[in-house]
Parts: sequence; C-alpha cells; structure tokens
Amino acid sequence: MSQDEEKRMYLAIESGEAEQPFRWSAGAYGSRFLTEIRDEGRFIGIKCPKCGKVYVPIRRVCGPCYEEMTELVPVSDEGTLITFSVVSFGFVDPSTGQQKPVPYGYAVIQLDGADSYLIHYIDETDPEKMKAGDRVKAVFVDKSERTGSLQDIRHFSLVRG
Ligand SMILES: [Zn+2]
Repeated sequence: MSQDEEKRMYLAIESGEAEQPFRWSAGAYGSRFLTEIRDEGRFIGIKCPKCGKVYVPIRRVCGPCYEEMTELVPVSDEGTLITFSVVSFGFVDPSTGQQKPVPYGYAVIQLDGADSYLIHYIDETDPEKMKAGDRVKAVFVDKSERTGSLQDIRHFSLVRG
C-alpha cells in the first residue's frame, strides 16, 4: 500500500492540547486527604469504626459494613507493590491535557497501614526489574509546585534494599 493510499484509509485525528475546564469539590474528607499531601507530604487514611479497615484514598462509607467513617489515621508513604503494568500506548493525560510520554509504569500500591489500594504511576518501566511484593515509596512534587491533587505525588519508586 502506498503512503497516499494509507492516508486515505486511515484518517488521523489530533487531540492537540485538550483543555480541561472543570472544577469540582473534593469534599470535606477528600480535601483533608489532599491538603495533607500538599502541605505535609504525607498520607492519611480513614478507619472504619466497625471492621477497622483503613482506606486510602479516603472514602466516607466502608464498602463491606456500610458504616460511615470519620476517624482519620496516619498512613505511611511506603508500601507494597500489589501489581503493575507498563503502558506503551500513548494517550492524553486528563490531569494535564498533555500527551503522556510512553512507556510509563502504572501500579496498584498498598500503603503500610492501609487495607485498600492506591493506583498511581511508578517510575520503573522495565517489567523485569519489579515484581508484586516489592517495596515502594511515594515521591512527591516539590512543595512549591503542589496544587492539592493526586498529581502532587510525582510517582512511586522502588525501594532498593
Ligand atoms: Zn468496615
């Protein structure tokens, strides 16, 4: 197939720099969670009064118990890599409106002291160099650049022992 034929068959659509003109409230507890990251560079979770599970990120109702949760508890910035994926397919990052450079690592992480999982980026992109069960630590954006979002966590890094 010639290049001209290919151009006629496959229409290219460019997203350019997508604007994201949306604002919404993170809620009282979600705001506490995000301001703790922004102002202190640390995590808090919320604890169920019935089963004792600690959730990060914060949610208001325990899924299994249907109990309302109000007790905020400190949670470590280190945790365990539960699973991961190395993404090689480009997309427009909705948090920035920019094309996300590939490849990048995407990980499911259980912070020490939490019973739930947090999904975020991991800076390793070689799947041979990480495995489930590895230790990871949050790397925060410089304090002066934090905005009060999950993007204040730059990524997680493997803790090399
Ligand atoms: Zn519960």
